[in-house]
Amino acid sequence: MPNLVDPSSTPRVNVAEPALAPAAEIEAKPEMNPLQFPPSLFNRKFDWVNFLGIVSLHVLAGAAFFVQFSWWAFGLAMFLWWLTGGLGICLCYHRLLTHRSFKTPKPVEYFLTILGTLNWQGPPIKWVGGHRLHHKHSDTDMDPHSPKHGFTWGHVLWCFTQDPQGRPARDAAKDLARDKGLAFIDRWHAVPQFILAGLLYVIGELTLNQGLSFVVWGIGVRTVIVYHATWFVNSASHTWGYRRFDTDEGSRNNWWVALLSFGEGWHNNHHGEQRSAAHGMKWYELDPTWWTIWAMEKVGLAKEVVRPKTIRQF
Ligand SMILES: [Zn+2]
Ligand SMILES: [Zn+2]
Repeated sequence: MPNLVDPSSTPRVNVAEPALAPAAEIEAKPEMNPLQFPPSLFNRKFDWVNFLGIVSLHVLAGAAFFVQFSWWAFGLAMFLWWLTGGLGICLCYHRLLTHRSFKTPKPVEYFLTILGTLNWQGPPIKWVGGHRLHHKHSDTDMDPHSPKHGFTWGHVLWCFTQDPQGRPARDAAKDLARDKGLAFIDRWHAVPQFILAGLLYVIGELTLNQGLSFVVWGIGVRTVIVYHATWFVNSASHTWGYRRFDTDEGSRNNWWVALLSFGEGWHNNHHGEQRSAAHGMKWYELDPTWWTIWAMEKVGLAKEVVRPKTIRQF
């Protein structure tokens, strides 16, 4: 069976040429009234593993109020936010694996994928499949996480349910499953997270006698920040912000989501040009993930980098 979603497929942009219109002229379509919560979602089974995992990590983050504060632990959390969220999720899971916006040598791709697994966001192939389904069915009943079904549903509640019966998200990423290296990382995706937690504890204990603080900040606080930054792309960037591309869903360009997510908040730009490695398309649309891909290209680590067609030359 062919992939449900071809990452090179043309985005669903309503106007033929040009695809651009001044942001102020574009308003949400009248038919984008809030949908009813689709009955099909009620058939989903509750995902206890995801639920308990996500709740536990929030509890661990909350422990930051009770352990001794350390600027080293704080700095560690900020660094890991960029490393695991910025490189692992935004650059790798999203722009590299989901949309194939550029190519990088396989060892680099595998290393970046392992960074992505450090965020407790499930197996990478399932993550990619779910996001491709979001693009294919954006803001319809088939969208895995549309805020049209309720902001909280689009933000986090969808994570507490299993895939619909007979429609596993990973089916939309069979191209990744055929890659033996990615399939191996996918299968063992939970392991690196425990190794990192153990390492942080040992390093924290040996250096500053702050092993617990390192785990609370480096795992708990950092993972919760990456969770909500990722989820805000699905919820807030489909709710608030301006639209440059007249796409047939409710995506928005949202500056504060972009700040939290290393550029992913320019989400209407992304829906308009899904394969573009750059999501920020004007000078004021800061996009650190694009800057990283640009730098990787300069040193020969990124090739066949897809650039936006409609905005400006990069
Ligand atoms: Zn995408
Ligand atoms: Zn979207």
